Amino acid sequence: MKPPGVEPWVCPTCGDQLKFEILDDEKFLVAWSCVNCGLIRTTEPA
Ligand SMILES: [Zn+2]
Repeated sequence: MKPPGVEPWVCPTCGDQLKFEILDDEKFLVAWSCVNCGLIRTTEPA
């Protein structure tokens, strides 16, 4: 059950799996990076 394009851990550019790294545990800040095309996204609470 994996609808395409909705998973935050999949690169929106190349579709590769993203690698995530926790930047700040308390603020829930996470960086997602794609090893294939170099895309980096960060998620943080609004
Ligand atoms: Zn990518």
